[in-house]
Amino acid sequence: MKSLTIFGTKIKVVKDDLIVHGILGKYSPTEQTIYIDKSLRGKEFISTLMHEIGHATFHVLGYHQTTLTLDMEELIVDNLSNVFCEVASEIKFGTESTKPRRTKKRNS
Ligand SMILES: [Zn+2]
Repeated sequence: MKSLTIFGTKIKVVKDDLIVHGILGKYSPTEQTIYIDKSLRGKEFISTLMHEIGHATFHVLGYHQTTLTLDMEELIVDNLSNVFCEVASEIKFGTESTKPRRTKKRNS
């Protein structure tokens, strides 16, 4: 995944070495880029990505510098990320059940 489109805005997704700075992910509004620590895998990766997608969405929609405090924004994006991960764990990503079923083409 190299980019995502959030409400029509292309947001780059870049894996980087962030753990050395004590963080797992961050969103840069000036670069319109989500950075995710390169060591993250599976649920940790998805959870961090969803959290940063939340921040990016607030920025793209212009809600970042409104009456919403940073604490409230953190609470909302964390909650959405947790809910998404709960749902994702039910879906079983990467298994046969989530792949689109292909029907064999018949020769007519
Ligand atoms: Zn955050």
